[in-house]
Amino acid sequence: MKNPPVFLLFPPGWIYTTGGSNLALPLLKGYLEASGIETYLFDLNIGLSDYFKIKISNCKIESACEIPSLENLNKPYYLSQDKMSAIAKPYGATWDIQLGFNYDGCSFSSSDEIRKFSEFNSPFDSYYDEELINQVEKLNPSIIGISVCSAAQLLTTFQIVRILKRTGYSGKIILGGNIITRLEKSFLKDWVFELIDGIVVFQGEIALSSLYFALQIGKELDYIPNLIWKKKGEIKKNKIEYLPQKDFGRPSYVNLSFKSYWGINYIPVLGSRGCYYGKCTFCSIPFAYGNNGFLGHDNPLSVYDDMVNGFDLSGINNYKFMEEALHPAILRKLSDKIISENFDCEFEGYARLDSFWQDEKFLQNISKAGLRKVYLGLELITSDKRGLLNKSDSNKALEMLKKFSDAGIKTHIFTLFGYPGTGIEEAVNTIEFVLQNKNLIDTLDIFPFYYAKHTKVPFIDIINNKAEDWALEHKYMPAIEEVLTMAQTSELCYQLEDIIWNEIPKWLHPIYRLYSPWSTKESNNNTVIKEQFTYV
Ligand code: SF4
Repeated sequence: MKNPPVFLLFPPGWIYTTGGSNLALPLLKGYLEASGIETYLFDLNIGLSDYFKIKISNCKIESACEIPSLENLNKPYYLSQDKMSAIAKPYGATWDIQLGFNYDGCSFSSSDEIRKFSEFNSPFDSYYDEELINQVEKLNPSIIGISVCSAAQLLTTFQIVRILKRTGYSGKIILGGNIITRLEKSFLKDWVFELIDGIVVFQGEIALSSLYFALQIGKELDYIPNLIWKKKGEIKKNKIEYLPQKDFGRPSYVNLSFKSYWGINYIPVLGSRGCYYGKCTFCSIPFAYGNNGFLGHDNPLSVYDDMVNGFDLSGINNYKFMEEALHPAILRKLSDKIISENFDCEFEGYARLDSFWQDEKFLQNISKAGLRKVYLGLELITSDKRGLLNKSDSNKALEMLKKFSDAGIKTHIFTLFGYPGTGIEEAVNTIEFVLQNKNLIDTLDIFPFYYAKHTKVPFIDIINNKAEDWALEHKYMPAIEEVLTMAQTSELCYQLEDIIWNEIPKWLHPIYRLYSPWSTKESNNNTVIKEQFTYV
């Protein structure tokens, strides 16, 4: 008899203006299938935008970006946003392109509110009944795994779990993903474990495959790493293990409806797991990888194979590297391979301003291989205060921006204002710097400092608020006089953002980001070599 499969869900609440799928589920699917477990994945975000027909068409994006004025960029964006708002309004809710779905009065930071509001009817219920439950009944999976990677997905996850229970699904429901890992102990609540069977923290590959086989043979679950589950009425936390480099799996992109993602699509790939530096005081981004946010580099030739496999499946030859910081150990060999195989592709990724990017020969080679854009954490352009962030990168930002530009590589700049010990002067200097060098910058983000869970930042005191037990960021107050309050920081960012919106709207606008930096536009999006969503 055929063994039951695993069904992986990516719940609504993920941002629509990314251009490609999240990588968590393709990685899990690839690993589980290599272990002999039939696995299906379902991105409900894309399912919903297809269902309600709210995608912004590529030709509208392309024509808005020809002259990227605020008016032109806003037009297609708000056509879709208005449609989404109208769908949510009768439910006393909002559905936002970037922030996801939420009810008026519900805070994602409060477990009590998620518990309460997840019992409400949602505009997605008919879709869940027609599409999701239908698939669950056909597949009859032994495990449904739900990956929660944004706060907005907490609400929809519990709505889905309640529907699964109501319709009689009797297999195991397991939650995992970045947010679940970051919430850690505050997630371990009786009401949560009445609805689900367990959570997996950090990387889920070994936990899910071990769980699958344990269920098949009726074995105890105590030995399964990274699993938190209910044993005889008690919530039990198994030992934590970090995914060793030898167990890095290959992503499987089958089941992804590539042609449905908004904008010029890319395939997500991964060269390294986490951030090779990982010591910036304010940053908890790579935390969920485990092992202080870094598990190691992958084999560049295997990454090349992933790129080719993705292209063979989808016809897409744009790629986004999802690691927190591209590393030369991957880039050098990968570029050589791409060039020697004459593989026509373009790619982008996040990067640190580290000195290897000053090597012009390296830049030319990687540009020739297809690197089109890097996303750089500049934070603040200031010599004396930057040390507070413990970033330890090069102080030659301008020189590097010029070299990227000379090599034909676009740049995105992340700024961060209001970090304790820095203030208005540093923020204004940074904005002046980017505006003076606007020809070297393609897009930009202004972030107010936020005190992320799992980080330790001096000169501020946490304000404890029991009602916000699922907050991913602490509220804080200055511990010394020079530090800006949260309100001052947010006002500062608001005002500086306003300047950018007036001067260079394409820097901040999500529509432009769906278009830049790819030069192969419409053509690769319309070619889907194999149809993906074919379950049973
Ligand atoms: S800010 Fe960037 S470089 Fe620093 S730890 Fe986070 S991901 Fe790494």
